[in-house]
Amino acid sequence: MSTVRSLASLLERSAREFPENIAVTVPGGRSVTYSELCELSDRVRDRLVHMGVRRGDRVGLRLHKSIEAVATIFGALKAGAAYVPVDAESPAARAAYILNDCDVKVVVTERELESELVQALGDTRPMLVLDATASRPMEELLEQLQRSEPAAPVESIATGADDIAYILYTSGSTGNPKGVVLSHGNALSFIDWCSETFAPRADDRFSSHAPFHFDLSILDIYVSLKHGATLVLIGEALGKEPLKLAAAIAAERISVWYSTPSILSLLANYGKLAKHDFAALRMVFFAGEVFPIPQYRALQAIWTRPRYFNLYGPTETNVCTWYEVTSDAPLDRMSTFPIGKICPPNLGRVVNEQGEIVSIGEPGELLVAGPNVMRGYWNLPDHNERAFFKDEAGALWYRTGDIVCEEPEVGYRYVGRRDRMVKRRGYRVELGEIEAALLRHPDVREGAVVAIPNPEEGVRILAFVACQDGTTLTRIALKAYSAQALPPYMIPDIFAVVPALPRTSTDKIDYQRLKSGG
Ligand code: AMP
Repeated sequence: MSTVRSLASLLERSAREFPENIAVTVPGGRSVTYSELCELSDRVRDRLVHMGVRRGDRVGLRLHKSIEAVATIFGALKAGAAYVPVDAESPAARAAYILNDCDVKVVVTERELESELVQALGDTRPMLVLDATASRPMEELLEQLQRSEPAAPVESIATGADDIAYILYTSGSTGNPKGVVLSHGNALSFIDWCSETFAPRADDRFSSHAPFHFDLSILDIYVSLKHGATLVLIGEALGKEPLKLAAAIAAERISVWYSTPSILSLLANYGKLAKHDFAALRMVFFAGEVFPIPQYRALQAIWTRPRYFNLYGPTETNVCTWYEVTSDAPLDRMSTFPIGKICPPNLGRVVNEQGEIVSIGEPGELLVAGPNVMRGYWNLPDHNERAFFKDEAGALWYRTGDIVCEEPEVGYRYVGRRDRMVKRRGYRVELGEIEAALLRHPDVREGAVVAIPNPEEGVRILAFVACQDGTTLTRIALKAYSAQALPPYMIPDIFAVVPALPRTSTDKIDYQRLKSGG
């Protein structure tokens, strides 16, 4: 176990040990060394404290993937605050809901995102607004502010393991995103496990493919910076273009890659990987959804050298089980990879609906206890009540909602979900949140959303809508409305406008009939 108990001290320690190593780089753009990043985040801290941020407060970030976003994260942590990253690509209204829900003290954003956010927030919350087109956006903004209203240098706050480090919002079944609250201790337990299991090196170059509001980013940012390695930031656009992405992975000599299987499949199918030299690549991690074996085989046939790891876990626990896909893995006998064994010192158990432990090989819900497990959902006591199971000894176990089977050699095998959550391109989507958004449209009387498995995309999302009397809605209008109300990965693939939704004999929406086409 590391003796460091706060995330900011990981950066501070690396800045002392490896001051001249490149900490963060943008392909084709700027890089910063450890000492530069540490110093820049000190200045962000000073400014945030000047703006009123105190230990235990929240700082919101609505920024594109950038060196400025990394400096803001560390600035907020050094000020003793928790950071709350929101998607720059999602509608401003959703971002505003999140930032208001956890009552951020300050928002850091970019000029092009500012006005819609101010309007959606509906208040005059203090903001730091960067000009993303400037050559050194954060430095320039801080220098300018320093001239007009100097912020005094302050000491970093020595946060402890129980302080909140970040809040990640995930799709919520009742219609609004819910905030998963994670402490420094939660994050460090996972980061320390990564250090022990994967032995990262200072000459590694880690990909940062996942957006910062997605929990895959925790491994990218902190494991990389803890070890004096380089974090290679992959922006939203580059991240989705397989040809350019493949070229960037090779040119940037990325040695540790981490993404959802969807992105790896995209690379294997459309990235023309054989054109490049990936000699530096030594570890590939994938997480967030099932990786179909044929897709994995296509990738492994081209990237033959790296070690491959399937990492599993909800945002609420970060990665909590792992499985190395060794070259002798009996892939012929598997339909998907096992999710493997629990990450120590966490504990796992598989239970039936009564909470009793099932026998080996029997399906049941995976429960997880230990230092990785979140502190709870922000301001949702009812959800917190339901999220945990109390065992005979009074210990609390997080209910993952995932059905698994335990097998003697490999550990857990993922079977499926217990509820209406689906994964799309690795993102968590509660079908109920889409329904709630559709029902907010004044012309919608009833709406129901189903997910149909699809070999190419994982799932296709179908929305059925019935209009209020005297109104009509076209599919185009519904699509346009959804783009305003939902993040891109939640917009249904197909809309059907129907006179009324089919009902079961007990008058519930007949989801089975909708799944078979309505
Ligand atoms: P998120 O909170 O976005 O990380 O989503 C968590 C959910 O994604 C889990 O509860 C699982 O249903 C699914 N998931 C995460 N990792 C894996 C994996 N390696 N294999 C299969 N499903 C996964």
